[in-house]
Amino acid sequence: MRLVLLGAPGSGKGTQAARLREHLQVPHISTGDLLRAAVRAGTPLGLQAKAVMESGGLVSDEIVLGMLEERLTAGDTGNGFILDGYPRNLAQANALDTLLARLHQPVDVAVQLDVDTELLIGRLAGRAQVEGRADDTPEAVRNRLKIYDEATAPVVEFYRQSGRLVHLDGVGTMDEVFQRIVEALAPTPDVG
Ligand code: ADP
Repeated sequence: MRLVLLGAPGSGKGTQAARLREHLQVPHISTGDLLRAAVRAGTPLGLQAKAVMESGGLVSDEIVLGMLEERLTAGDTGNGFILDGYPRNLAQANALDTLLARLHQPVDVAVQLDVDTELLIGRLAGRAQVEGRADDTPEAVRNRLKIYDEATAPVVEFYRQSGRLVHLDGVGTMDEVFQRIVEALAPTPDVG
């Protein structure tokens, strides 16, 4: 199964993706993780991305697409993948469809985890204390949430219009949300 996970920062995409990876036995591909690894490794791409990421902005579409193509052609996605953190704007959504059409691996479903903004702010503040991520400062968090509303929310419509969207309530325990996803992905039993 080829699945895209959509949701605001703090909506639990990363947590659910890690579980889905076990459940579906397909790789979890997080563009945030790929970028953070590039920053840690000090690659030219990482050096370019670092400041933008710390401010909570979006790394250029071109850089992220190149990195993603490299990852998607690594040879381990024959049974599918879980994409987390991409696409984040309409240009990326279109670029992804084009890339995956070329690879004969179109997206089957986009799962949106819906979480209220107030709750997101609380979760990200909590995570900031525990993990100390450079982009969990209050200013960067504000910026990330704003970008989500302005640039990423239209991506939800993109998948809805092409009949590939599953919209889910992302509020609840990790287990509850996971169950909702698994149920939504299960094939609908034949009635009659
Ligand atoms: P979150 O969704 O919690 O904000 P991520 O780990 O998905 O965290 O992403 C962290 C940062 O990495 C983003 O704020 C952005 O700077 C960069 N990034 C990740 N994915 C993309 C993408 N598809 N396009 C542009 N920038 C991205």
